[in-house]
Amino acid sequence: MKGTFPIDKFRELRTPFYYYDTKVLRETLSCVRTEAAKYGNFDVHYAVKANANPKVLSIIRENGLGADCVSGGEVRAAIKAGFPTNKIVFAGVGKADWEINLGLDYNIFCFNVESIPELEIINELAAAKGKVANVAFRINPNVGAHTHANITTGLAENKFGISMQDMDNVIDVALEMKNVKFIGLHFHIGSQILDMSDFVALCNRVNELQDKLESHRIRIEHVNVGGGLGIDYKHPNRQAIPDFKDYFETYAEHLKLRSYQTLHFELGRAITGQCGSLISRVLYVKQGANKKFAILDAGMTDLIRPALYQAYHKIENITSEEVVEAYDVVGPICESSDVFGKAIDLNKVKRGDLIALRSAGAYGEIMASSYNCRELPKGYTSDELV
Ligand SMILES: *Cc1c(COP(=O)(O)O)cnc(C)c1O
Repeated sequence: MKGTFPIDKFRELRTPFYYYDTKVLRETLSCVRTEAAKYGNFDVHYAVKANANPKVLSIIRENGLGADCVSGGEVRAAIKAGFPTNKIVFAGVGKADWEINLGLDYNIFCFNVESIPELEIINELAAAKGKVANVAFRINPNVGAHTHANITTGLAENKFGISMQDMDNVIDVALEMKNVKFIGLHFHIGSQILDMSDFVALCNRVNELQDKLESHRIRIEHVNVGGGLGIDYKHPNRQAIPDFKDYFETYAEHLKLRSYQTLHFELGRAITGQCGSLISRVLYVKQGANKKFAILDAGMTDLIRPALYQAYHKIENITSEEVVEAYDVVGPICESSDVFGKAIDLNKVKRGDLIALRSAGAYGEIMASSYNCRELPKGYTSDELV
């Protein structure tokens, strides 16, 4: 089954471009809200790095989510899209002084801190402004995730977070400081996780750390378990909305949240992934020595995930119903890794056909580059094209 698209409108537009189906996005957001609201003390933030298209951001903001940012630029984008500053959290292993100052000036909800040197700088910059910054520590829980090696973040070998052995010391240091207030713990073990047992492993680790904190009489009000819920790249239509029910239930069942605590989530891919497609035109069909190439006007500069993570995106010829043939679907960039898929079954392709690369709403448009002096792809929502 293919996706449904306003093909006549598409024909008028310059390709390649991103297309966001706002019905899918709104239904996804409504499902997140409904499922999280069942628990009363669950607070969902959107990880802006997945997609910061202003129209997409504003729909997410309208649905009441907070924003999880990993750079000063993202903090600005979130504020511009109207996210309340007291619902913005700021993570990242290397925050520059101007980025910390920006967060301080806007009184964001919390800095997720990843080292003592960073904590010292936040304390110093907050002191200079006569402020007290809320901080949470990102703990590296040494929990693996069954996902691609480049998108696992919670192993001891990864650069992210503070090791569990150092946690007590860092908290002691923070409690001595006058211009930071220690409010909680933060975790994020990776991305595109579909096996709930990975999240169960995280819950078990959080429970151990919570018991340890309590034995030291340290009380925290916030636990943030990051994001990472995956999507079904193989079947974007059959499962357009991720199983948020199962996801939140897993945490409700396994994480021993204290009655006074709020559990925060930072979902990126699961929120925007399925609503987006990269739409491209076929430039040429080339007969190679032993296969056919469909050469698109979109390349790895528009959607880098296949080249970067060997990621799969479902590819559809949305303007042909002719008999299916196998093609290597490639872009025009001067790199051998500029391949979207090999031996892909597509309805017979001819020059000018429109090709959709599905499930490209997360880590798509935002990761585009101008390598080869190419123009960045535009993003359109279905609201604009009716
Ligand atoms: C990337 C990131 C997220 C979102 O990850 P998804 O897999 O897109 O849900 C959440 N929190 C932090 C700290 C991140 O770096």
